Amino acid sequence: MSTETFPRTFVPADIDLGDWEDIEPLFKVLLDRQIDNPEELEQWLLDNSELMACISEERSERYIAMSCDTAASDKERAYLDFLENIAPRVKSCVYALNTKYVASESRGDLNADRYGVLDREVTAEIELFREENIPLQTEVSKLAQQYQKITGAMTVEYKDEEHTLPQMAKYLEETDRDVRQQAWKLVISRRLQDRDEMDAIFDRQLQLRQQIAANAGFDDYRSYAFKSMMRFDYNIEDSEHFQETVRELVVPLYRDLNLRQFGMLAEESKGKSCQSVVQSSKDPTVEFRTLRPWDLEVDPLGRDPLRPFENIERLESGVQEIFTRLDPELARLFASMRSQGDLDLESRKGKAPGGYMSTRDEKRRPFIFMNAAGVQRDVETLLHEAGHAFHAFATQHEPLVGYRHSPIEFAEVASMTMELFAADELDVFYDTKDAARAKRKHLESIIKIIPWIAQIDRFQHWIYANPGHSVVDRTACWLELDRAFGAQVDWSGYQESRESYWQRQLHLFVHPFYYIEYGIAQLGALQLWLRFKRDQDEALRGYRAALALGGSRPLPELFEVAGARFDFSAETIKPLVDAVQDELAELPV
Ligand SMILES: [Zn+2]
Repeated sequence: MSTETFPRTFVPADIDLGDWEDIEPLFKVLLDRQIDNPEELEQWLLDNSELMACISEERSERYIAMSCDTAASDKERAYLDFLENIAPRVKSCVYALNTKYVASESRGDLNADRYGVLDREVTAEIELFREENIPLQTEVSKLAQQYQKITGAMTVEYKDEEHTLPQMAKYLEETDRDVRQQAWKLVISRRLQDRDEMDAIFDRQLQLRQQIAANAGFDDYRSYAFKSMMRFDYNIEDSEHFQETVRELVVPLYRDLNLRQFGMLAEESKGKSCQSVVQSSKDPTVEFRTLRPWDLEVDPLGRDPLRPFENIERLESGVQEIFTRLDPELARLFASMRSQGDLDLESRKGKAPGGYMSTRDEKRRPFIFMNAAGVQRDVETLLHEAGHAFHAFATQHEPLVGYRHSPIEFAEVASMTMELFAADELDVFYDTKDAARAKRKHLESIIKIIPWIAQIDRFQHWIYANPGHSVVDRTACWLELDRAFGAQVDWSGYQESRESYWQRQLHLFVHPFYYIEYGIAQLGALQLWLRFKRDQDEALRGYRAALALGGSRPLPELFEVAGARFDFSAETIKPLVDAVQDELAELPV
């Protein structure tokens, strides 16, 4: 199954998908085709889907080639050329095709169960489309670009070397507290230099977004954003419910973890001071009074970072071993990716940063890209991206390309669940003690990120529900949310940084409202994990069945088939928090 091919029936074999003159006639054929009955409409949708899959694959292939070899200027040119010359033209053709679909008389006779999801998405796109919004959207994107440019250009001088801000993150794991503080201070001071400009960019974006919503007939950008993000299965009140439940149930556990971190660090520092009395003239009376913002990433026992593997072969074979233990089918799929060259995992010069899974939509095969450096995070990333890849394999037989992809709220369940299913198999890489340490770190990271997701989400809701607010009002709102959701660290001396801390969250500028998806998905993944702990086979069956549905069903149904509830109430969240807490209590430090 995993090496199956899916031959074309509509798009000619010899088409050049980088040449608009080759592509345009196919759109024209689809636009001009007479459709007299539901069967013809279905065939039209299939042909449409095949063309879109071919175009999407061309884009993915060019993107993959570029990110694997950023030094090759021809590869970069090929990708940019596609973005400039093909993508916008495709977009306007898709709008024309959608209009044709909505106007088709046979549409009402399609099987609602099969086409319901597609229909509601196409209808929403048509309803939201306004010609006069195109230049406004371009301007918002340019401002988002400007935000990224400013952030990307931020560097600091440290140890006589220029560092980007992401490069500084590793110093926050240093056991020497002074090193951490100095590194943290350099980063926040650098960010503060651009604080006012960030506020100005954001204010301009808010005005534009408000205008875009008004043009499309909405009084509020929130309602517009929910519709344009195809959030049919939850609404503004549900999001608020999510925020509130997280505040009540997850924030206390998060703060407990921080307190524990503080307690251990304080112990550690006592030990250090005793030693330094003997060994150095450094003031031994320095006390660890409170947890500061630079104390959150360090190992509280002063241990070195975990080192799961020394080379890529070991990472691949280790993860292969985990899948073999979990499920023969998953093992077979991962093995086929290895043998077919669908993995590029090693970090090397000339490779773009980060990691992703990309599906080649025509071949219907996934590709995993990442920059492994030998740390535990790499193991998690590969398990995560493999979860996305299994999703792509599971939907191979779905003929409609749109249904081969699920909404992010569920796509991330596929990936985050794989990290959790593998949590008890990490002894592939470690001795028992370190395997437990890696598992603890993973569970803690889940508890740490959920409050931040809720905080960012609530902040956005406030922002768009209060158009015309001042920077002062916005700052006051953020501080209030930080008191409700934040880490409870001692910020004294760094008030300005605390006030503008939200500016580091790219989504606020680049993809407004897009963030809660990760929280929703994590709730799904934790539910699947609990099921897995009770009955491994049943959990895997549900996981695979839900993945196979791709995006063909509404979110609550995808969750249900997987064995989870699409629900943000305490009733659903409480058992998850309790389970994580119990698991953490059993794990050694
Ligand atoms: Zn993901």
